[in-house]
Amino acid sequence: MKNWSEKGLSPFTSDGWKRDLNRAIERDQLYMMYQPKFKGTEIVGYEALCRWEHPLYGLIPPNLFIPESEETGYILDIGRFAVQSACELISHMMEVGITVSIAVNVSPLQLRGGNGSDFIKFVKATTHELEVARNKLIIEVTEGHEIDRDDVLSTLNDIKSHGFSLSLDDFGTGYSAYSVFNKLNIDQLKVDRCFVDSIGTAKGDIIIESIIRLGWDLGMEVVIEGVETQVQNEFLSQYPNLIIQGYYLSPPLRLESILKSLCG
Ligand code: C2E
Ligand code: CA
Ligand code: CA
Repeated sequence: MKNWSEKGLSPFTSDGWKRDLNRAIERDQLYMMYQPKFKGTEIVGYEALCRWEHPLYGLIPPNLFIPESEETGYILDIGRFAVQSACELISHMMEVGITVSIAVNVSPLQLRGGNGSDFIKFVKATTHELEVARNKLIIEVTEGHEIDRDDVLSTLNDIKSHGFSLSLDDFGTGYSAYSVFNKLNIDQLKVDRCFVDSIGTAKGDIIIESIIRLGWDLGMEVVIEGVETQVQNEFLSQYPNLIIQGYYLSPPLRLESILKSLCG
């Protein structure tokens, strides 16, 4: 698979790819990768991350095409595609006796008003059809002012009341910070990787430790993402219940490679 620089067309300097975005799923150009999350040496779940392989521009990063799809509304299709793919993987794993959870990133636009009720209908139908336990599907939302909207909060509370799990992503970088804990019953706190970068400094260690304690004291699972080095991993390993995700332990993996490792 070639990347954009080898093909000579950069999605950063030309936006020709934008007009193709709304056909990406039907053209089979979109797929999900899954990054494992570890507790000790055991994989306890995966995060589903969307990829777009464009025939001319190569691999276009989600940081470019996700914001564009939020502008055009195509994120609603991407959101359904992500849920469907994640549930299929959970179901495949159940067939071989492995129970894991999969987190799917969800944009606030998917949760507003009527979009929110459509989304809940879709996740209920998909989990039912594939016989996936609802708490194994984690709906991951990014902390920020958007989740403080009444209609978005109401959808998130409905998602939770239907038995799905909720994860608060990029914690520590948004605006709503602590008030969100009173408004939502969150299962999992994902600490933003900027705090991992500061591990090894006196203040950095204290800050990340206090966020971990805060999460646990509020009854949440705590995930630390963006762990890239042995030093960071060793520091975090002193907390046996912590869930760790990052390139140091594993990059995001293609579905085929996960299925292959299950079979053999
Ligand atoms: P995110 O949800 O915060 O996802 C984590 C990002 O960090 C992923 O980038 C992942 O590949 C990357 N990452 C994982 N381990 C490390 C590490 O050790 N170091 C560093 N520096 N990075 C690491 P990716 O896949 O490029 O996704 C970027 C963002 O795009 C995601 O950030 C998420 O906000 C968004 N995104 C991706 N897939 C979807 C999707 O299906 N739906 C929505 N709404 N957003 C998505
Ligand atoms: Ca995420
Ligand atoms: Ca994140």
